[in-house]
Amino acid sequence: MENNKSQCVKFYSGQEIPLELHKVRIVQKLNLIPIEERLKAIVEGGFNTFLLTTKTVFLDMLTDSGTNAMSDNQVSSMLRADDAYAGSQSYMRLEEAIMETFNCKYFLPVHQGRAAENIISQTFIKQGDVVPMNYHFTTTKAHIEINGGTIFEIYTDEALKVKSSHPFKGNLDIGKLKDIIKRYGADKVAYIRLEASTNLIGGQPFSIANMREVRKVATEHGIMIVLDASLIGENAYFIKQREAEFKNKSIKEVLHEMLSLVDVTYFSSRKVSSTRGGGICTNNEEIHKKMRDLVPLYEGFYTYGGMSIREVEAMAIGLIETLDESVISQSPSFIKYMVNELDKLGVPVVTPAGGLGVHIDAGQFLSHVPQKEYPAGALAAAYFLISGVRGMERGTISSVRDANGNDVLADVELLRLAMPRRVFTLSQVMYATDRLNWLYRNRELVGGLKFYEEPPVLRFFGGKLEPTSPWPAKLVAKFRADFGDSL
Ligand SMILES: *Cc1c(COP(=O)(O)O)cnc(C)c1O
Repeated sequence: MENNKSQCVKFYSGQEIPLELHKVRIVQKLNLIPIEERLKAIVEGGFNTFLLTTKTVFLDMLTDSGTNAMSDNQVSSMLRADDAYAGSQSYMRLEEAIMETFNCKYFLPVHQGRAAENIISQTFIKQGDVVPMNYHFTTTKAHIEINGGTIFEIYTDEALKVKSSHPFKGNLDIGKLKDIIKRYGADKVAYIRLEASTNLIGGQPFSIANMREVRKVATEHGIMIVLDASLIGENAYFIKQREAEFKNKSIKEVLHEMLSLVDVTYFSSRKVSSTRGGGICTNNEEIHKKMRDLVPLYEGFYTYGGMSIREVEAMAIGLIETLDESVISQSPSFIKYMVNELDKLGVPVVTPAGGLGVHIDAGQFLSHVPQKEYPAGALAAAYFLISGVRGMERGTISSVRDANGNDVLADVELLRLAMPRRVFTLSQVMYATDRLNWLYRNRELVGGLKFYEEPPVLRFFGGKLEPTSPWPAKLVAKFRADFGDSL
């Protein structure tokens, strides 16, 4: 049943409290271990939160990738999986779900989002091409560059401001788009890429008004638009919330409008429906045929694309559930709550709240730590130490070194606290907020980090660091003084 009404619940007290619109029927025990044991864990993990095991982590806010909660319908659908190499009925159900959610005629299944990027980049990018986009994602950039393309990030001036009330910080700058087309010529522009709820700059959405402007320019110059729809449900939710024209539309109507404005759409099912997998959709038969042959080459037969049939079933249900506002609003409403609470407490947090997680401005939080000593990495490590909450560094450690071996300092130093859908309860989010507030009051105790083991590529995954002074021990002592024998 379609519901065009907003699903928010108001409290008599007037407080803005997110409400879980589901019940918890299967649970998993968490480990909240003493701070002294967490100190050992973070030292062993080289002060890199990627190198912690979940045995030592209390709330895992590293990422939303593959960590959203599955619904009862998703889990039960796996039992009716119709295992067949070719022509599986499960795949037919997935195609129907794609049609229903995205209104797309042609679909290609792949084993995850980056596999879609491989097929799209190989098909449409030639040596020397350029790809303008609102912001890059790590795997997207790598696939475009390996095929000889160059990316241009043409976000608006508002996008990187920490404090903002702009509802659509993910918009693409139309003036800059026209400049690039003029400078390189339309035939050098392989396609324009729009990423829904920009992953790396705070889960910030774009508007349909902006998409329409991009469409106009693209049509004028005969350029294709590719939509990265990995985080599209949240973007659609924000459009309904923040763009007046869509206030009374259903999520499905918003999605169909978004998809009607682009030529190719791809997504990672790890984000959209918490199963492995992904896909590419289009309504253009010619475009579809160009990409089609790469599916059996890299992924598997056309009716499973590298996924298990069980995943195909769960993905179909997950896509349909994306249309339900009481599902899709869960992460954004918890993020909004935490952002508002932190903002009230004066903790430097990116505003307005986005769709992926809570982003802390580590540059401001640890303004006494020089950027070359990695404030975002230090904050991620310190926060895990005092709370057991695991976030992700999105700053200079996630960047690279230049040809001379010097760090390329990141535009912004962020600690990202992802909010996987329907995984955490409100009291857990209150705990995460409380400990971050305590850390902010004691921020002077946190120092910097330096590498002692640094892989040449993707160093943020496997690199190991150590503190530049004995600050972790001081933090532990202060925690014990303030909290006694509390966990
Ligand atoms: C996660 C993600 C991808 C890559 O998807 P995988 O399934 O991890 O390969 C691509 N784009 C965006 C925006 C993402 O968030």
